[in-house]
Amino acid sequence: MSVHIHNRHIEIIVTPTRTLGVNTRLKAVAIDCEMVGGGDDGSTDLCASICLVDEDEHVIFSTHVQPQLPVTDYRHKVTGLTEEDLKNGMRLQDVREKVLAILCGGHNDGAGRLLLVGHDLRHDMKCLKLQYPSHLLRDTAKYVPLMKTNLVSQSLKYLTRSYLGYKIQCGKHEPYEDCVAAMRLYKRMRDQEHGKAEKEEEEEGDGLNSWKQSDLEKMKPEELYHNSTSEYRCWCLDRR
Ligand SMILES: [Zn+2]
Repeated sequence: MSVHIHNRHIEIIVTPTRTLGVNTRLKAVAIDCEMVGGGDDGSTDLCASICLVDEDEHVIFSTHVQPQLPVTDYRHKVTGLTEEDLKNGMRLQDVREKVLAILCGGHNDGAGRLLLVGHDLRHDMKCLKLQYPSHLLRDTAKYVPLMKTNLVSQSLKYLTRSYLGYKIQCGKHEPYEDCVAAMRLYKRMRDQEHGKAEKEEEEEGDGLNSWKQSDLEKMKPEELYHNSTSEYRCWCLDRR
């Protein structure tokens, strides 16, 4: 099978027994990390907790992570984490290897076989010191239809309330909850039928800051929209 992305052909090896019929689209996993603070002023982000969920919102992997530097701020109000939690965590290197093994479908050839979904993925990946091909990233903070018109990211909290209609991050941040929210947003956008306005947006009427699908389509003809050589690539293409 060969997938056409951004005028490049990326060969994806699919074992013949894996799927029946033509439905060989790439599966997605969502990731979220919680960070604690290191450094004198506690501003250095240290990965302290991680969660990965599949498209059905099942936890694939979840663990606390041993800090790589002394923690100067547990950011307890947001993370809920304590020294005790992290003491029993996995080493960052082991976490990274585990995540890569998941993304490579159990192969150790370093070739990604899954789409990686998240909110502000580069931040999580930087803290994990993880590299992953950008054409396999699905970032709800960087996807144009989910951004403000001036191309500034919306918060995951805002997107979840506006598009999914529920509240997250009311007290401390739960990696599982954030993973699920990012995955639901991804699936919502991927499965969107173009030309129909999103119900919630119409009803709530507070989506003024985000692009409306209909606005986007007025700006960019569908052809340009899907074959553009720019960074923007419609997530509906993931259904194929
Ligand atoms: Zn599309």
